[in-house]
Amino acid sequence: MKSLKGIYLLLALSITASIIYLHYGVNTTHTKLVENIEKIFVLQAKNFAKNIDEDLKKYIDSNKTLYQTLKEEPQLRAALEHSLSTISTPSFKYIFVLYRDKDGRYRYLLDGSREDKGFFNQKLDVDKNMWNRCYETKEDQIIVHKNLEGLWITYLKPIVRSESVEGVIAIDFSTTLPATINEAIKPLEKIFYYIFIAIGALMLILLYQTILNIKVKKESITDPLTQTLNRNFLKTFLSSIDLAKYQILMVDIDYFKKINDNFGHKAGDLVLKEVAALIKKELREKDKLIRFGGEEFLIFLYREKHNCTAAKIIANRLKERIEKHTFKYEKTPIHITVSIGAASKPEHFKSADEAVKYADELLYEAKREGRNKIVFDIQNNEKSDKFKTLSEVKEALDEDRVIVHYQPIVDLASYKTVKYEALVRIVERDGKIVPPFLFLDSIAHTNIYVDLTKRILSIVFDKIKEHKISISINLNLSDILDNMIFSMIIEEIKKHEDLAKWLIIEMLETQHYSNIDSLKDRILELKSFGVKISVDDFGSGFSNFSIFQDLPIDILKIDGSLVKDVNHSKVAYSITESISLFANKLDIEVIAEFIHSKEILYIVKDLGILYGQGFYLGKPQESIDTKKSILASQTSA
Ligand code: GH3
Ligand code: MG
Ligand code: MG
Repeated sequence: MKSLKGIYLLLALSITASIIYLHYGVNTTHTKLVENIEKIFVLQAKNFAKNIDEDLKKYIDSNKTLYQTLKEEPQLRAALEHSLSTISTPSFKYIFVLYRDKDGRYRYLLDGSREDKGFFNQKLDVDKNMWNRCYETKEDQIIVHKNLEGLWITYLKPIVRSESVEGVIAIDFSTTLPATINEAIKPLEKIFYYIFIAIGALMLILLYQTILNIKVKKESITDPLTQTLNRNFLKTFLSSIDLAKYQILMVDIDYFKKINDNFGHKAGDLVLKEVAALIKKELREKDKLIRFGGEEFLIFLYREKHNCTAAKIIANRLKERIEKHTFKYEKTPIHITVSIGAASKPEHFKSADEAVKYADELLYEAKREGRNKIVFDIQNNEKSDKFKTLSEVKEALDEDRVIVHYQPIVDLASYKTVKYEALVRIVERDGKIVPPFLFLDSIAHTNIYVDLTKRILSIVFDKIKEHKISISINLNLSDILDNMIFSMIIEEIKKHEDLAKWLIIEMLETQHYSNIDSLKDRILELKSFGVKISVDDFGSGFSNFSIFQDLPIDILKIDGSLVKDVNHSKVAYSITESISLFANKLDIEVIAEFIHSKEILYIVKDLGILYGQGFYLGKPQESIDTKKSILASQTSA
């Protein structure tokens, strides 16, 4: 439809152009023809005048003037007039010779006309300007008149003898040739005229239709309430978007239902409209604001440079602006806040849909964290090229290049390896091993992440089945809450009796857990099969002791940042000590990670910690070698 209209327009334009070109061609040809006729006749007249001048001079007595000669010799006059009349033709109708008397009037000397002949010395009214100029300049003069009807030329030649002008030869030429040409062209002009009108009308219709179409199209992609773009627009936009050119914000009004409930739907509508207007004020021309759902707005921020911080800046500005704004409904002031999910590198996703879904997940996380918050995808913007993209991780999965390394966890009394921690790696095509911090961020909250977790689980399950030894697996709280991951674990431990008792789940992200009831249910279910639950990185950041009240924890891993400092930091030592005491009291097993030296090993042992992990005790390795698990030789010294 669209292309057809384009073709019509192109056709109309090219026809117009050809018509204008033709019209111009015909017009210039007409002018050129008339000019040529003029040139030819002027040349002819000039020749005639020259011959007449020469003839006259032959007959004039050398001591008399032309006037005197002709006055005294009527036969000569008659003969000359006869010879003039023989030159005359329907075009060169008037050929005559005049002179200027002392009063400045022009009178006949000779007249070559065949009818209405002027007689000798008869006065003739002429365009004196040109005639006088002949006398003054002693040069030929040409008078041209032309219009559509015809062409008139008067050629004047002064008869100069001994430096004085004795008369003027005049040759009048007239032709209706231009009129004839004009007649011939007229029908063509008419055709041009009608074509012009037809094309004009066509263009007007086309213009009207285009305006109408633009209006209809605009309405179809505009949300009637907020005047933002709608999902129709989103659909086409996503199909052609270059993800590297945008950053995505998902904005949702917090507790919006309460506004409807407390003040009515109209108040809700008003707030929606004003929020859209506030957001628009923060955006630039190239950004897109889309009403994604009821009170959820999707924003595509145009990215000028690849590494741009617009998402962070604009998300913060939006959040602040809306929070500070007082919405007024029938004099009732209303205050609201928004939660925002910000995907600053959507190009890491294989489709625009996935990137939008991810932004939505980030928004959901902001909601879980208590609302009135922004959750960004990447906290650290200084990522280097070594970081893997989502598609690179996906390729590694597809090509079976995901492996697991196992780091021993050692009984510090016997120096026997009692269990292992499973640590995921990606093997690059050239064999290089990529650690998880270089690829986990780019796949967070995507299906790839779920696929990867399931792959790790399946590799580890196989390892447990093979070696019948405890292995701990790192899982986020959201992994345990993920139905696919959780049901996979449950299915496997149901299928293989022994599996559960060797399996340890190390929980990350202990600082934020909002959905505590479902988490507890799931952990209890896992424990009912014999799975052990471990808390990872305890003592770092905002670790919260209440987790031990909420969840049945078996093992606690003291954060490496504390352990590595116990030899020189009093604070690190004291915290480690109190964690150890506290855990012992609750019968929770304690593991100190990051034991990288003998010195630290002994301090940790002195603190009553029974298990340890770290480079000094054993690096992560590809295989589990139970025979090599005694480290006594290394540590007894
Ligand atoms: P949360 O903080 O989790 O986002 O809570 P919420 O109440 O904002 O979100 P929820 O999704 O529970 O409720 C959204 C409400 O928005 C429900 C729906 O009735 C209302 N809503 C959706 N579209 C419109 C609309 O066009 N006008 C009005 N007034 N209300 C709308
Ligand atoms: Mg909401
Ligand atoms: Mg909502």
